[in-house]
Amino acid sequence: MRKDRKIDRREALKLMAAGSGLAASSLHAATNKSELKGGAHLSHPASHKYARIVIAGGGTAGIIAAARTRRAAPNAEITLISPNTTHLYQPGALFRAAGLMSQSEMVRETASFFPDNVTWLQEKVTGFDPEHNRIETEKSGKLPYDVLIVALGCAYDYGAIEGMDSSMIGKEGILSIYLNDTVKGTAEGAELSGALFEKMKADVVTASKPLEILFCEPDTPVKGKGSGLSLMLLYLDMLQKKGGDKKVRFTYVTPDEVLLDEKMFNHALGKIVKKYPSVEVLYRHRLTKVDAAAKKATLTSGDQTIEKAYDYIHITPPMQAHRLVRESALAVGDGPQKGW
Ligand SMILES: Cc1cc2nc3c(=O)[nH]c(=O)nc-3n(C[C@H](O)[C@H](O)[C@H](O)COP(=O)(O)OP(=O)(O)OC[C@H]3O[C@@H](n4cnc5c(N)ncnc54)[C@H](O)[C@@H]3O)c2cc1C
Repeated sequence: MRKDRKIDRREALKLMAAGSGLAASSLHAATNKSELKGGAHLSHPASHKYARIVIAGGGTAGIIAAARTRRAAPNAEITLISPNTTHLYQPGALFRAAGLMSQSEMVRETASFFPDNVTWLQEKVTGFDPEHNRIETEKSGKLPYDVLIVALGCAYDYGAIEGMDSSMIGKEGILSIYLNDTVKGTAEGAELSGALFEKMKADVVTASKPLEILFCEPDTPVKGKGSGLSLMLLYLDMLQKKGGDKKVRFTYVTPDEVLLDEKMFNHALGKIVKKYPSVEVLYRHRLTKVDAAAKKATLTSGDQTIEKAYDYIHITPPMQAHRLVRESALAVGDGPQKGW
């Protein structure tokens, strides 16, 4: 293969633009390979050049990238490196934590929608060497590439909240639907939060004063943004049927000035939230400390802090790039995006 037939950076970006045409929701909606094949179309013409394309991570993004790149670059050698044989449908955590979805409904065999003619190395990436266009793997050593697509997902940083760590979820009224393991395909946070929601429903019936329930969002980029808010509205609806408006008080704590960035959704959600007198929104605040034994949350806004007692608290964790990305030369070295 002649070297000048290889894909250059400009062409790689065009292929990725072609790949971005398939929305994540389409992947979840598709039930088998033929549906994916039939539903997909290219917005850019295919490139017939040769290139070694390596994709790190086989979650929603990695699988979509593999399927779309396969169509966009028929002569490329595509390798996807990811250990998970099970695909976890993460948005399902919301419904699982309300008892509306089972664990088995949240998972699928990765192989059932893995694209044809893509080599799958079922192992972990262990490092990046972008200087030499090489990726390091657990079993196959160092592999060269012409184009690298990184899709390892992001990591949770519960420890950035003083007094908090992921082992506290499911105890002392602490919920977090986010806690999961995409390598194993498990959704521990959804399950533990679901168990606490059962307790919450029982408490609403017997409580002599309104239950204080906090939902806290971090000030980092967040995947599935708005899931904490969706969970609050879902729980509110289900709890009101049990004990009425006077038995619960919800506080939604967000560092933002709006409920959601998208204007249309923000407007609609604002109207819904206003309908519930039991909901208060604390804008421009974030959770900085949890005292689990005393069931007290410290909320910070600029240099002001307030303490709030709670019966239950849902925590959307601060998020960061995958450790391997953070520790590599791929990460932004400075400024507000540092580490991403
Ligand atoms: C509660 C919740 C609700 C959500 N709701 C929505 C929603 O309504 N709409 C929406 O669009 N999105 C939603 N999301 C977000 C959506 O699920 C994620 O954005 C999406 O799953 C991210 O896909 P990804 O492929 O980038 O990462 P992940 O799905 O995290 O996949 C990462 C992949 O990398 C692999 N991996 C990890 N480490 C290694 C390694 N060392 N080597 C090789 N492979 C590795 C994993 O096995 C996995 O396959 C929600 C998420 C959550 C948690």
